[in-house]
Amino acid sequence: MNDGTDEEGKLILALDVGGTKIAGSVLRFSSGHMPELIRLVQEPTQAQEGGLAVLQRIVEFSCELLGRIDREVMGIGIGAAGVIALDGSIESATSLMPGWSGMPLGPALRAATGKTVSVVGDVHAHALGEAHWGAGRDVSSMLLVAVGTGIGGAMVLGGHVLHGAHNVGGHIGHVCHPDARRIRCSCGRYGHVEPIASGLGIERCYHKLSGKDARGDRIAEMARNGDNDAQSAVLMAGRALGNTLGMQANMLDPEMIVLSGSVCGAGELWLDAVRQGYQDQVIDALSDIPIVPGTLGAQAPILGAAVPLAQYLGLIEGDEGTAVEKDPICVIS
Ligand SMILES: [Zn+2]
Repeated sequence: MNDGTDEEGKLILALDVGGTKIAGSVLRFSSGHMPELIRLVQEPTQAQEGGLAVLQRIVEFSCELLGRIDREVMGIGIGAAGVIALDGSIESATSLMPGWSGMPLGPALRAATGKTVSVVGDVHAHALGEAHWGAGRDVSSMLLVAVGTGIGGAMVLGGHVLHGAHNVGGHIGHVCHPDARRIRCSCGRYGHVEPIASGLGIERCYHKLSGKDARGDRIAEMARNGDNDAQSAVLMAGRALGNTLGMQANMLDPEMIVLSGSVCGAGELWLDAVRQGYQDQVIDALSDIPIVPGTLGAQAPILGAAVPLAQYLGLIEGDEGTAVEKDPICVIS
């Protein structure tokens, strides 16, 4: 056992806690390189068992992973579903994780392991991963938009997420789009872009056009094979998302827009529609901002989960010249 600072690189345990699975890996940090994932493992979240059972599973999972490493691990960086409170507990969560709201995630891991712990939201973690080592590694500002069942987002500036005053910044799915006027959003309001541009939006639109039900990935496949209704559903969703990206770019002026999430699997047809919708709304000065898919895939959230802690420990740097806010906001040490 040593202090984790020898020439083999410094170690952090990174966890990605989602509604369906808990993934964990020890990351090895060597200066100037993307951290190396050592023994990525995962298990089902079993969210239906309730928040306390999930929390207990995460603690046991973490202790087991730490027990397998014969060198000192410097801390635990977590990316978790839900809105994260400033003390590292879960402020609120969707119905996908019943009872998850209020769980003392960070404090419980700190108490169980004695390690320094940081907690960040899952979309924020995803964005940090892509910003540091993925599509955004060469730019200083980046808007990440994750399009799956719902739509999430995060603005990264100088290597730090723009968390906002309440840790809720980046909820790009909950801005208005005229085509969504009479459609109820997952937040309970009407007129937000999420229910028309998300995976569920594609499914809803396809049903309306064809009278048939199909899952989003199947609709994407049918669209690629030339099905008119499937193509229309994918195009309308992509266009609506692009409109929203254009309007947000007008506000934020990111150097790059990075797209991730399962809907990206709809491919070029969807991506072209997103770019066209973007051009319809963006002001001329910002028409050249690249809109690109993420490059890290499923590794983005687990790599990003470690970023706030790695910054706190001095293992990686943010660009202090442009940072408006320093991570981590909820390190417990
Ligand atoms: Zn909404």
